[in-house]
Amino acid sequence: MTNSERLRALPSVDVLLRHENVVNLRDHVTQAQITTWVREVVQECREHLLKDQLAINTCLTGWIVDRVLHKANADLGQRLQPVINATGVVLHTNLGRSPMPEQAIRAAENASRYTNVELDLESGRRSKRGHRVMALLAELTGAEDALVVNNCAAATVLVLQALAAGQEVVVSRGQLVEIGGGFRLPDVFRAAGVTLREVGTTNRTYLRDYEAAVNENTGAVIRVHRSNFSLSGFVTEPGIDELVQMERPDSVAVIDDLGSGSMIDMTPYGLEEPNVIDSVRSGADISLFSGDKLFGGPQAGILVGKKRWIEKLRRSPIMRAMRVDKLTLAALEATTEIHLSGKALTELPTLQMITTNPDTIRQRCETLISRINHPDVAKLIPCESQVGGGSVPGFNLASFAVQITGFPPHHLARHLRTGETPVQTRVTDDSLILDLRTVSDSQLPVLATNINAAIANSEIPANTEPVAE
Ligand SMILES: *Cc1c(COP(=O)(O)O)cnc(C)c1O
Repeated sequence: MTNSERLRALPSVDVLLRHENVVNLRDHVTQAQITTWVREVVQECREHLLKDQLAINTCLTGWIVDRVLHKANADLGQRLQPVINATGVVLHTNLGRSPMPEQAIRAAENASRYTNVELDLESGRRSKRGHRVMALLAELTGAEDALVVNNCAAATVLVLQALAAGQEVVVSRGQLVEIGGGFRLPDVFRAAGVTLREVGTTNRTYLRDYEAAVNENTGAVIRVHRSNFSLSGFVTEPGIDELVQMERPDSVAVIDDLGSGSMIDMTPYGLEEPNVIDSVRSGADISLFSGDKLFGGPQAGILVGKKRWIEKLRRSPIMRAMRVDKLTLAALEATTEIHLSGKALTELPTLQMITTNPDTIRQRCETLISRINHPDVAKLIPCESQVGGGSVPGFNLASFAVQITGFPPHHLARHLRTGETPVQTRVTDDSLILDLRTVSDSQLPVLATNINAAIANSEIPANTEPVAE
């Protein structure tokens, strides 16, 4: 019997859909999706038979079911799941920016069932959503009041819209940034219904430029931190402390968009990021920052400042569209408590990783190398890690990495990404690099197992063409 004669033996879609292994996929994917996969694979099988590409004794049902399961696994591999970050980029946007502290994870888990998000347990009355988190944030930053929205971009839109819709907002030309992902400040201004009033030049803006621009049409003055790039050389611009001193109508708020939102002085570690507490102390009407950059918590946009302005934001109709869920509030509350306890550097993974001493990372690398079955392919190298998340541009942290050579790095990287516990690594021209700044000691055994499996599976000899990423 030829392969084309075997076409008649091709199992029907209906029969395949009743196969036990296919039926079991129903726990994770829809029947419609399974049917599509089965039809696609049956068609593939038909083509193979017509081209005589299948061994004559191949079990067709087995061949098809295997490929359907393979498609299902590829799909399930895209589910959100834990990934080991061996890139050394601490705030890795593709990996969800800041990992949360254990306390925040537990708090979010506890809040994921029924929780007192709008209930005062003492009186039994309705309470203001997230009021305790806001009070803690105000206490931490020294501000009169605080408000939380979905992210810092939302916070920017909210302040512009609520305080200056239909009016002008004054901003320095050197601060009209694109934050990333096409999020450009001039577009945000337009979307919020405010007119952009640019002042100064790219490199130099003076206080008098702001003063000259403020008039009866001004709604607000905003300073935006140039998070992801730096200007140096013949450069000047007034600080937030000078902007707040500026002569202006009572209705004009001075806003400080800080971006990364550092709470502690990070200069001993070489990081020059604007500090939220300094911004509040300077007298900014509203200071805003992200919850998942240097604050080290869940994704959120945090606004702190003068009561009168925060109240105005709270009453804005778009506030309701930007409010965060109970999981975020719970995680943020736990993160804020860590900041208040003074233990941020040791208990927030983000700050802890940024401040890890290179020697500790070197030892971690040595432990990993000792667990790799082919010690000659792995070696310790010095490298540089980044803070990431569009913050502290051009600043690198001295670190150590495990470099793996002798295998096509793209193949190895893909094996590691698609293994039991996905691992994201750095790939160079001829090697794979694992910067262990962002890997914890407790992850080393799993990481070693995955590397050993990836090496064992990388049977393709070195120096072949990399696969398309
Ligand atoms: C990162 C950043 C934002 C956007 O924050 P998200 O939390 O990502 O929305 C806004 N402004 C500045 C200055 C930033 O650095």
